[in-house]
Amino acid sequence: MTIVAAEKLQGLLSELADIETITDPSEVAKLSLDFYHYSPVLSRQLSDKRGDVVVRPANEQEVQRVAAACAKWRLPLTVRGAGTGNYGQCIPLAGGVILEMSKLNQVIWAKPGLARVQAGIKLAAIDKHTREMGWEIRMAPSTYRTATIGGFIAGGSGGIGSVTYGQLLDRGNILGLRVVTVEEEPRILELRGDDVFKVSHAWGLTGIITEVEIPLAPAYPWAELIVAFPPEGGFMPCARFGQALAAADGILKKLISLHAWPIPSYFAPLRGYLPEGSAVALLMVAECSLEPLLELIREHGGQVVYNKTAQEAAKGISLGEFSWNHTTLHCRSVDPNLTYLQSIFPPDRELKLVQHLYEYFGDEVLMHLEMIRLGGQAIPVGLQIVRFTTEERLNEIMRYHEAQGVFIANPHTFILEEGGRKVMDPRQVRFKEEVDPYGLLNPGKTRTWQGRASA
Ligand code: FAD
Repeated sequence: MTIVAAEKLQGLLSELADIETITDPSEVAKLSLDFYHYSPVLSRQLSDKRGDVVVRPANEQEVQRVAAACAKWRLPLTVRGAGTGNYGQCIPLAGGVILEMSKLNQVIWAKPGLARVQAGIKLAAIDKHTREMGWEIRMAPSTYRTATIGGFIAGGSGGIGSVTYGQLLDRGNILGLRVVTVEEEPRILELRGDDVFKVSHAWGLTGIITEVEIPLAPAYPWAELIVAFPPEGGFMPCARFGQALAAADGILKKLISLHAWPIPSYFAPLRGYLPEGSAVALLMVAECSLEPLLELIREHGGQVVYNKTAQEAAKGISLGEFSWNHTTLHCRSVDPNLTYLQSIFPPDRELKLVQHLYEYFGDEVLMHLEMIRLGGQAIPVGLQIVRFTTEERLNEIMRYHEAQGVFIANPHTFILEEGGRKVMDPRQVRFKEEVDPYGLLNPGKTRTWQGRASA
C-alpha cells in the first residue's frame, strides 16, 4: 500500500471506529476470496488479491456511513455476502474496503407468497421462517445453506427451483430492492419493477443492496430420489428422461440434475446407492407427484436406487448439495484437476446437440445437465466437468460448444462482460453513473465502465 493509501485508510478507520472492522491480515485474506479456485485460469490471476480492511455493518445506517467514508476518502468498496461466488466476483482487485453483510440478516416481513428480508440473510434462514406458513423461496443456488440473498441476486443466476420458476432474470422473480449509493451523502433508493435489473447480476457494481423483496412458492414436501439408467445405454436415456420430466407440467418438481458416468463415482457420500457405470438423475419431486413420476421412470427404463420422503431428506443428505455447482465441488475434491463449463442448450426435445457433445468429447468433458425453464420451455443447462489440460484447450472446448450453437457463460473470467451477460446492461451503466460517481464499487470487474472512465 502507498503512504497516501495508508493515510486514507487510517482516516476511514477513525471515522468508523464504532463499527466492527477486521484488520488482521489472515482474516482479511480469508474474507477477500471466494470459490475462484474452481477455475485454473482464475486461480492463477486472483490468488494474491486482498482487501485492506473488512467492515461488518450491523444495520443500514452503518452501511451508509461506510459508503460515505469510502466516497470521502475515494477508497474502493467491494460488497461481500458469504463469498461463495465462483468467478472472483467479490474479490477486491484494487484493495480497499470489503463490506461484509452478514449482520443484516433479518426477515423484515413475510406473508403468503411474498417476503421482504435484509440482504445479508442466508437463503436457508428465509425458508426456515416462511415454511412455518407453508411458503419457501422460489429458487436457490446449491449453496443455499451458506449463501446470502443479496449475493445471490447480485451474483447468481438460478438453481434449485429454476425448473419451475425460471431464473432470477425472469420478470417477477425479484420484486423490490433497496439500495445504498456510494457518495459523500449516500442516498437510499427503492427499486421496483424492471428497475431491479439495474442492480441484479451487476456483481455489486451498481449499489449496495440492503433489502430484498421476493415472491415465494408453495412449500410442498419434497421427496428426494435418485434414478439410475442401465450402463450400456450411456447418458442419453437419462437425459431424455430428464427432458420429459421437465416438460411434464402435471408433475411438481424442484430439481432435475442429470449426470453421465463417471460423475456419480465422485459422489462419495452416495456411493453405496449408485450402480457402477450408470448415469443418474437426482430429483426433488413433490410427494403428491410420486405416482406419475414412477410411471415416467418406468417408461424411460430407469430404476429408483434412492428414495427419501421429505421428512427423511430434511434430516440427512440433501441431494441439492450434489447438484448445480456442488457437482463440481464433489468432483474437484477427488481430482483438483477437474474444472467446469457453464452452458445453455437451445430448446430441442430430442437433445441432438447434447448427444453430439457427449459423444464428441467423451471422457474429456463429462456431461452434467440441470433442467430449467427458459422462455416457457424446458431446456438443459450444462455445468459440464472438464479434465483440464491447458488454458488453450479449455478455450477451444468452449469455442467448439459456441460454434455448435450452445451458449457459453464463461466461468473462467472475472470480467462481467466476458461471462454470462456478454454486455453490461446499459441500464446498469447509466445507474452506476448515478449511484457510484467515483467508480469505487468493485473496481476492475467491468470493461464498459473502465472504458468510459479512461475515455
Ligand atoms: P458473494 O459471493 O459474497 O457475492 C457475489 C457477488 O454479489 C459479488 O460481486 C458481491 O460483490 C455481490 N454482492 C454480495 N452481496 C451484495 C449486496 N448486498 N449488495 C450488492 N452486491 C452484493 N450460483 C447460482 O446461481 N446457482 C447455483 O446453483 C450455484 N451453485 C453453487 C455451488 C457451489 C458449490 C459454489 C461454490 C457456488 C455456487 N453458485 C451458484 C455461486 C454462488 O454460490 C451463488 O451465486 C450465491 O448466491 C452467492 O451468494 P454469496 O452470498 O456467497 O455472494
